[in-house]
Amino acid sequence: MTNLLEVKNLNIEYESNRGKVHAVNNVSFSIKKGEIFGLVGESGCGKSTTAFGISRLLRPPAQITGGSIKLNGTELMNLSEQEFDKIRWNKISIILQSAMNNLNPVIKIQDQLLDAILAHKKMNVKEAIKHAKYLFSLVDIQSDRLNSYPHELSGGMRQRVVIAMALALKPDLIIMDEPTTALDVVVQNGIINKILTLQKEFGFSILFITHDLPLMLEICDRVGVMYAGELVEVMKREELLHGARHPYTKGLLQSFPPLKGKKTRLKGIPGNPPDLITPPKGCNFHPRCPHAMTQCMEYEPQILGDEKGLVACHLYRVEGDTLEQISATSERY
Ligand code: SF4
Repeated sequence: MTNLLEVKNLNIEYESNRGKVHAVNNVSFSIKKGEIFGLVGESGCGKSTTAFGISRLLRPPAQITGGSIKLNGTELMNLSEQEFDKIRWNKISIILQSAMNNLNPVIKIQDQLLDAILAHKKMNVKEAIKHAKYLFSLVDIQSDRLNSYPHELSGGMRQRVVIAMALALKPDLIIMDEPTTALDVVVQNGIINKILTLQKEFGFSILFITHDLPLMLEICDRVGVMYAGELVEVMKREELLHGARHPYTKGLLQSFPPLKGKKTRLKGIPGNPPDLITPPKGCNFHPRCPHAMTQCMEYEPQILGDEKGLVACHLYRVEGDTLEQISATSERY
């Protein structure tokens, strides 16, 4: 599979009255055509900021300060606002956490949908209404609901409307930022199944963002783990579940109760993420890491990779084609 999206050394900062916040720091990853790639991490780790950077939805004072974002080989960073407008919805669309953030509460859904369709497709109103009905059929909503206002629909239906909107122009990539977080688990399950069915049918790629690691492990092909604005690990879903390398990823995995098997006490991760205005020297995770060594407090770990994935941690070194773990004894605890 060829790469659809390539993000290299992305840096995003914003000014605050206390100084510069390094929200996204040197983040690199790629998404293949038809792949579901997940970004996971605690709140404030930079995953949504990364998504907003890719879809050019960052608002001042946040700004991209470096890096490259290529879609199908085209450098998006070089495009003017006008040129990027042709990419938005057509090639990249985004679904946000709460459907009410995407839908205008005082405009009927049909009018909102037609706005998006007519702005980008050469269609007359009659054809656009037909297309809107087709989109509603894809997400299992009866077409007479097109005449509703957002508040007349349930949360699950509104989220389906937003999915229909995201699909309107058959984009290559759909960014889903916590698309089901605000929904109860039954509705969430229905929405996720619908997303997976549509993804199989149309073959678009997904950048799926959530703090819910078990959900991510259910649906994503590969998972990227972010901590304090940095990407610390990337692995295939099935490898990550049983073979995570980074201490932070292991801590995340131990923070969720297993659905099957013996009851175990949840360990969690002690402490809090660092202040991104004054991050710690060396590895950002060292104040919370059970394996922190002297070098972790001095030097930032480089991201290393082998066929299993990528990891940024001093516990690993390159040995031939693979990464080998050095002794995981702590010098601090
Ligand atoms: Fe822990 Fe050191 Fe690895 Fe950071 S580099 S995660 S502190 S072992």
